[in-house]
Amino acid sequence: MYATLLADARFHDLLLAVDRDLAEACRAEGCACGGRRHVARYARKPRGRPCRLGPEHDQRFSFCCAVDGCRSRATPPSLRFLGRRVYVASVVVLIAILRDGVSDARLERLRQIVSVDRRTIARWRRWWRDTFPATPFWRVARAAFLPPPDGAQLPAELIDRFAGDPQDRLVALLRFLGPIAGGVRMRAF
Ligand SMILES: [Zn+2]
Repeated sequence: MYATLLADARFHDLLLAVDRDLAEACRAEGCACGGRRHVARYARKPRGRPCRLGPEHDQRFSFCCAVDGCRSRATPPSLRFLGRRVYVASVVVLIAILRDGVSDARLERLRQIVSVDRRTIARWRRWWRDTFPATPFWRVARAAFLPPPDGAQLPAELIDRFAGDPQDRLVALLRFLGPIAGGVRMRAF
């Protein structure tokens, strides 16, 4: 069951470990100007985490070019933060998936665990239905699937495209959505 993952600190540690790898790749790549990338993290106060996690989970990895006059910022993809949303990515994805597939009682219990109100869930649903399918990211990325998903049942129809147990699938989906975290600008929820 996907929902139990949200309450499992080991799952969040796994997401953090993947983010660290993505950050290290971004740092090692260096700036387009040839400069080195220095750590310039963002402090975040993400909401919707149903278990206690250490302060290292509150930081978004980011880098700044060391060269005076360049100082370009680079923010690597993330499995934990989806765009500028204040809720952790796995919650935004899972609630939207479960909304269609579980009983009202189960959704209600989950909603209380992660302290998300109904209006927020309604906003996320609209985002998945109207905003996300119109992003340049989705228009390119959907072609990676055969056949391409039609986008009518996002994100539920995406998670079915990945193999493995619930954790593998959710991690694969978050990894797929990772570029949104760094690249596409979207309004915060
Ligand atoms: Zn630079």
